[in-house]
Amino acid sequence: METIDSRLAKLRGVVRDDRKYAKAIGVRYHDGKPSAVEGLLSRGDRRIGPVIEAVWRDGGRFDGWSEYFNYDRWMRCSVEALEGTGVDAAWYTTRERELAEVLPWDHLDSGLDKQWLWDDWQDALAEVEIDDCRWSPCFDCGVCDQMGTEIQVGPTGGMLLPLTVLP
Ligand code: SF4
Repeated sequence: METIDSRLAKLRGVVRDDRKYAKAIGVRYHDGKPSAVEGLLSRGDRRIGPVIEAVWRDGGRFDGWSEYFNYDRWMRCSVEALEGTGVDAAWYTTRERELAEVLPWDHLDSGLDKQWLWDDWQDALAEVEIDDCRWSPCFDCGVCDQMGTEIQVGPTGGMLLPLTVLP
């Protein structure tokens, strides 16, 4: 959470320090602590149900609003509700995952190939940039095949931003 907060502060600083950027770019983000709870809920499985109930029974309401958000309550209730399960909040949020792990959302198919996502993650860790597939050859992520879509680039008749397309 401290790492996230310090990176966000740097990003905000860069945007704010440049008057041209600051006028044109709005930075919307969530701080590290709310993000940790969001991570718990979005990566959680059925074992997170009792955590949500415990937070509610403890008075938790409207946590999406910063004035009501109570990180300590979420962590305390996580410890209590997950006792005996062999997992904790960090298990759901900050630990490294292996490629072979079955993920809670694996039964949902958005068309993206899991192996492709993993390779993309490895590229991100190695700071390898991937071009925008609208302007470059297909990277075969699986979406177009699976969803029956196709990237089409060509005149639309609409007014385009003055972007230069690089070869
Ligand atoms: S063109 Fe389609 S399949 Fe290829 S990388 Fe882009 S979205 Fe994925």
